[in-house]
Amino acid sequence: MSPSAKQIDKVFQQVISRNPGEHEFHQAVREVFDSLPTVLSRHPEYVEASILERLCEPERQIIFRIPWTDDAGTVHISRGFRVQYNSALGPYKGGLRFHPSVLLGTVKFLGFEQVFKNALTGLPIGGGKGGSDFDPKDRSDAEIMRFCQSFMTEAYRHLGDRVDVPAGDIGVGRREIGYLFGQYKRIANRYESGVITGKGVTWGGSLLRTEATGYGTVFFAEHMLRAAGTSFDGTTALVSGSGNVAIYAIEKVHELGGTVVGASDSSGSVYDPDGIDLDLLREVKEVSRARISSYAEQRPQAQYLEGTRVWAVAQKSAVDVALPCATQNELDEDDAATLISSGVTAVVEGANMPTTPEAIRRLREADVLFGPGKAANAGGVATSALEMQQNATRDSWSAEYTEQRLSEIMENVHTRCASTAEEYGIPGDYVAGANIAGFTQVADAMLAQGVI
Ligand code: GLU
Repeated sequence: MSPSAKQIDKVFQQVISRNPGEHEFHQAVREVFDSLPTVLSRHPEYVEASILERLCEPERQIIFRIPWTDDAGTVHISRGFRVQYNSALGPYKGGLRFHPSVLLGTVKFLGFEQVFKNALTGLPIGGGKGGSDFDPKDRSDAEIMRFCQSFMTEAYRHLGDRVDVPAGDIGVGRREIGYLFGQYKRIANRYESGVITGKGVTWGGSLLRTEATGYGTVFFAEHMLRAAGTSFDGTTALVSGSGNVAIYAIEKVHELGGTVVGASDSSGSVYDPDGIDLDLLREVKEVSRARISSYAEQRPQAQYLEGTRVWAVAQKSAVDVALPCATQNELDEDDAATLISSGVTAVVEGANMPTTPEAIRRLREADVLFGPGKAANAGGVATSALEMQQNATRDSWSAEYTEQRLSEIMENVHTRCASTAEEYGIPGDYVAGANIAGFTQVADAMLAQGVI
């Protein structure tokens, strides 16, 4: 083991013992650390200044009680989190996730990823993440509102447009952002548009923010495909999920001439050999808020695969590109094997850490192009930063201009990942390219700002 690899291993053992049971956090740290031995050999100053140790300890972690009352008058206690991870490049920035699986370790893994993702955008944003174990499923609008108000009644004191700027993530969309912003405005007594992003376009939101993560993922994937001499045109693709990220990824793949033949939710998947009908999927998921089985019920040519991940569709159809756009660790080694047998040439992550380390290894051994989420899905947070810019200048940009900015940013993220991988002698390794480019930018800023 080289001295750098030894140093990395030492810090990683500390991470495990100081953060017991936080497996997703360990996984996210391990993935970045695996890319760093050569970086530390070239930059001993990072080791001298304990940059790795500092990066594994969030600057601030806030955990709070969220009491709320359901429609029947029963009081519930949820747990709220905000992890203000790293502010070397700008105010903490990152979404809120409302899902029963959310634990402190979940928020820490997401915050850790966010730091490097935000750096890759080239925009002045630090990294943070938050959320709650509240389950929004089957809750009424009034219950969602009361919960959001209770969340913000505690969270507001930690936020600010130059301090910490949340946004959405799983379980937090336009409706929740509205209730959260309203309560912030009421308590703070100021119309501070830039305190949260993902707002409605008539009250400070940016055009394209809703579409940005999905579109950005496909822009990134298209650059990867072009660099390899192909494109989306004529390809068959699978997209997991049916939320914001998935819906707009599907739309963009179709626009670029590909056909998405599978989508999913937590209850199962649909296989639609004619290509997913987006109007119908939107109706089912966004208007009726129903299960994806309802898509298949209304579309005779589609098949519902109950309790099955979308990757199983690759047993029925040849698949060229897979875009995991649902949640962490949703594509495992067996799924990777199914995709490889089906002829997949690229897997690009729209979600945060959706591919397990074993699956990534398997895909790379089979020479499948792999685009890591912290680069590929950076379009969402990048457009949040564009929303902050519009708020700061009290301006609102056209959809065309905003999409052009998003597309340029994703091209830059791709170029940075590709050229960094090349500089380190591992061309085509987007995982290492993203980790090294993000890490060195944050590390240099931390060095410049002293031991804080
Ligand atoms: N939750 C999104 C992400 O994972 C967006 C965060 C933001 O817009 O601040 O990057």
